[in-house]
Amino acid sequence: MLNFRVVATGLVAGCAGLTLAGVAFGSDASQPVDSTPATATSPFATLLAQRGLAAAEGYPGLHSLCSLEAPLIDAGKRHRLSDDASDKPRPKPKSSAGKRKPLGPHRVFDNLYFVGNGQVSSWALTTSEGIVLIDAMNTPNQAETIIAPGMRELGLDPADITHLLITHGHGDHYGGQSWIVEQYAPEVIMTRIDWDMLDDPEQRIDNPRWGEPPERDHQVIDDEMLTLGDTTLGMYITPGHTPGTLSLVFPVKDGDEVHHAVLWGGTGFNFGPDEARLRGYSASASRMHQIAQEAGVDVFLSNHPKRDGTPGRIAALETRKAGDAHPFVTGDQALGALDLLSDCTLAQAERLRAAR
Ligand SMILES: [Zn+2]
Repeated sequence: MLNFRVVATGLVAGCAGLTLAGVAFGSDASQPVDSTPATATSPFATLLAQRGLAAAEGYPGLHSLCSLEAPLIDAGKRHRLSDDASDKPRPKPKSSAGKRKPLGPHRVFDNLYFVGNGQVSSWALTTSEGIVLIDAMNTPNQAETIIAPGMRELGLDPADITHLLITHGHGDHYGGQSWIVEQYAPEVIMTRIDWDMLDDPEQRIDNPRWGEPPERDHQVIDDEMLTLGDTTLGMYITPGHTPGTLSLVFPVKDGDEVHHAVLWGGTGFNFGPDEARLRGYSASASRMHQIAQEAGVDVFLSNHPKRDGTPGRIAALETRKAGDAHPFVTGDQALGALDLLSDCTLAQAERLRAAR
């Protein structure tokens, strides 16, 4: 059943080397509260992690998920602790001469525009009947000063936003929604499961840095299609990062070529050492692989730019010459990213099982 590829043993060291002490492991988590002791006692976990890494060499931003030594952090628990010093703003990275310029707005495909920043993505998908905005960043201020001006800079009118799609119920994705809704009154789409999560103080993550969550609006069901004129988005509930994370499949255009993108709706393990949750996450990623393969997906996107390599790919787009491949079109690697998500979450579950 399990068909392991031969992988270099160096990958094990590479995997361990990616232990980043709670920085890169969960996109929303910065301070370990609830962690699992490192274990190297599960050869099965190691094999799965190796296989995941080998499948997605083109997506180094996902590799930290395969570290079997990184702590598994419960970000919700962190934020439920009173007078928690970790809610202080994170120190700004020291500037260095070789530092890349801040990530600005960019037209990535003819119909897909990046309008986020270096920490979190917001994507504008244009159709013949309006714009679908995917995620709203952290705060109303970011929506007003990053998303809307970014769209205008790229020649889009934010008043054309007909739908605001929230990939999951964490405030780095919904926090700017109130400003977008007040200004442009789009239909807000999220899963019922994540709206329920936001109603549950035990499940939701409260972070004072985030804007207000959205009012219940369009509660998307699994495998629902959103068709706007010439464009259809497939919407799939992929439990894992949150119980009702929403992942998407949609066409992206590059001149005469049409490609298909999968947007994975939530990535980091910020829910603590929860074996069942990890196994569910793995199943979600496997299922998305199947769906993406049937849809001819050759582009993998995330809602955090570091996960899908957006900064480097945008830099490559800026110097792209006629006839060059599109740097976001990665062929089999796009499905390989889903393989990594499936294998490395299972590896983490096996790691927990071995530590029981
Ligand atoms: Zn999240």
